[in-house]
Amino acid sequence: MTSRAVLVTGASRGIGRAVAARFAAGGDRVAIHHRGSGELAERLRAELPGDGHVVVRADLADPEAVRVMVDDAAARLGGLDVLVNNAGVYGERNAPHPVFGASYAEWQRRWRQVLETNLTGAANVTWCAAQHMRGRGGRIVNVSSRGAFRGEPEQPAYGASKAGLNALGQSLAVALAPYGIAVATVAPGFVETDMTTEHLAGEGGATIRAQSPFGRVARPEEIAAAVHWLASAEAEWASGTIVDLNGASYLRT
Ligand code: NAD
Repeated sequence: MTSRAVLVTGASRGIGRAVAARFAAGGDRVAIHHRGSGELAERLRAELPGDGHVVVRADLADPEAVRVMVDDAAARLGGLDVLVNNAGVYGERNAPHPVFGASYAEWQRRWRQVLETNLTGAANVTWCAAQHMRGRGGRIVNVSSRGAFRGEPEQPAYGASKAGLNALGQSLAVALAPYGIAVATVAPGFVETDMTTEHLAGEGGATIRAQSPFGRVARPEEIAAAVHWLASAEAEWASGTIVDLNGASYLRT
């Protein structure tokens, strides 16, 4: 099997890290995107099996930095076959983002912060990556959330951003199919990562775990396995789908 060139955003930790590891284990070359010091990303690059992995950096809220980052990844990997739009933010320090109790300016600031990364950032990465897939085909997998279907009362911007990401994926699945580019989405519920550490601690965590008949939340590797399949050559017919990846959670409520 030939090695593919894969860009994973937000790959230095959590779900993105597991996704990067899964592609590398399958023999692909991975561009590990991050926006921090690069320490975690470099460590991951050294740990991944296989050769040719690279580390790339950008704040996804900065469209010009996104363009430079995607071009850099494609140049160093020798093109791009797969994009995984994984990077995302839930909300500032997980603090609620209410309609009442915060100023209009604060409402807007928090709204922009989430939308600029989760939706506009992903759209910009997608535009840039698609330029490199044109003529060779490709796969794009978006990491959305169950919040896209059920809303996020404490983080309305998050729910809206993920619903927008679902619609973006469906729109582009149609628009890009003639170019041999398939676009699919996974929508997990709770996954054990830094994003959910606080939620899963204490009594709240027990309630969340009880929402699944398996009595637990997802492991990042379980999300990575679905992403990996949706990005495979055999998954073209899954283009346009949104995979509700939730361990039978929420079916009883
Ligand atoms: P995480 O916080 O560990 O990872 C998020 C990653 O996105 C980090 O590497 C972070 O640096 C990066 N990122 C955030 N803002 C960025 C920006 N402006 N520019 C560049 N990178 C940025 O959390 P995670 O749980 O691994 O989340 C990964 C994805 O999965 C996110 O899109 C999240 O919304 C989604 N998700 C997570 C869960 C969950 O329960 N953990 C559930 C559903 C969906």
